[in-house]
Amino acid sequence: MTEKRIGHFIDGREVMSRSGAEFDDVNPWTQERWATVALGGREDVDAAITAARRAFDEGPWPTMGATERSGIIARLADLMAQHRDELALADVRDMGKPIAQARHDVDRSIQNFTFFADHARVAAAETYPMDSGHHAYSRYEPAGVVVAIAPWNFPLMLATWKVAPALAWGNTVILKPAEDTPASATLLARLATEAGFPDGVLNVVHGFGPDSAGQFLTEDPRVDRITFTGESGTGRIIARAASANLIPVSLELGGKGANIVFDDADLDNAVSWAVQAIFRNAGQVCLAGSRLFVQRGVYEEFMVRFQRAAEALVIGDPEDARTEFASLASEEHYRKVGTYLDSVAEHGGTIVSGGSDAGGLVVRPTILTDLGLDAPHYRDEIFGPVVVARPFDTEDEAVHLANDTAYGLNAMVFTENLSRAHRLGARLRAGTVWVNCFFIRDLRAPFGGVGDSGIGREGGSFSREFFTEPKAVVMQIYGSGD
Ligand code: NAD
Repeated sequence: MTEKRIGHFIDGREVMSRSGAEFDDVNPWTQERWATVALGGREDVDAAITAARRAFDEGPWPTMGATERSGIIARLADLMAQHRDELALADVRDMGKPIAQARHDVDRSIQNFTFFADHARVAAAETYPMDSGHHAYSRYEPAGVVVAIAPWNFPLMLATWKVAPALAWGNTVILKPAEDTPASATLLARLATEAGFPDGVLNVVHGFGPDSAGQFLTEDPRVDRITFTGESGTGRIIARAASANLIPVSLELGGKGANIVFDDADLDNAVSWAVQAIFRNAGQVCLAGSRLFVQRGVYEEFMVRFQRAAEALVIGDPEDARTEFASLASEEHYRKVGTYLDSVAEHGGTIVSGGSDAGGLVVRPTILTDLGLDAPHYRDEIFGPVVVARPFDTEDEAVHLANDTAYGLNAMVFTENLSRAHRLGARLRAGTVWVNCFFIRDLRAPFGGVGDSGIGREGGSFSREFFTEPKAVVMQIYGSGD
């Protein structure tokens, strides 16, 4: 069998690197290389930006009507549905997520395209009738060339969360997927060409961050917007690059979500969401409910049920549709998560359940208790299936515990008390607060974080503000009547 090779996608064609450089794409479940990937250097980045710049400056993508653009995007969405399994398998082999979850990600990615294509048609302008006999209206003009840099935890879903609104609003794009998860991005670009996207509108360049494709893309002065999802430290570096070129940047960064369960909660519901919140995608989720605070009256009962549900998750081959939980995404990440488990005892903590002794790169669903609030397990984003749990007594204490973090992406509250739910919705310092649920999204709603969790919001009109240059046109409708 000839080995699979994954190329860049530049100006409507799949190409390998000008230098011929490649890197390995390793399947974390088998720990074997399953493909080789073009390693983008300066020349490849230059070619991609040149193509995107030309496609923007010469059209027709930015000047075509939103209806025509949305027709092409709809064809891409159809093709993605036809290639659902291929796209899902690409993410499974790249990062070990269970196939059932990867299929769900593909469906969400399709929705990203259909939603933003519709939104760009219906939210194209506002009018402001003026008393003075004038009339003002807005225009949302495409910003230009967008660089989208994606992480490895939801490779296709988070790439399309950026690429779809950027394209729907008439921009041209260069997508750099994470080095661990390149496959679905190239597949997506191939499908986009088949759907009728003009050459140069959607480009993909593979490679690493520092001194590689990521850095070269973010430092290029021909770029008009950078949208980034990844670690907070990388976000700081990218913000500096964007500020040097004075361009807007959107940063969706790390999280350390608090999950607060009150005595009056529906415990079946709370347990089931708490398990999803920290063990879905093996905890490699920015929104993970990695800090669990349970009111003392139900603490013991909740923890027994939570542990039982965590231990019941089906661990296995991610390509098997019955699997609910598989390996971490890479050996490097497995080692990082392992260092947190190794230091639990030293910080006075207890491993109630889980651990990294299941073989391969698997860290079982892990529950930690008895740790002090200054332990790194409470402060750092571990980004694995590891939850720290502790009881609390009062609502004020729960709010204080939840807000005691540098991050502020999301929080969850489980209570049947309506007033309390709204009070906490206001008091929790986070971009999203979920009440009696988790992970449910409306693509019109703002999405993003405060503090170290990021800058800016995306979703609906928030994506429009970022990916366009809003303009006001003011004209006289009638004069004085003389
Ligand atoms: P990462 O920051 O290591 O890498 C993300 C991307 O940035 C990759 O494509 C990488 O190649 C690139 N990159 C790295 N250094 C760069 C540089 N100097 N210049 C330009 N590009 C560079 O993050 P990751 O490990 O891939 O992803 C996990 C992180 O992403 C976690 O912190 C997680 O919380 C966060 N995340 C946030 C959200 C959100 O919506 N807020 C969603 C998912 C993941």
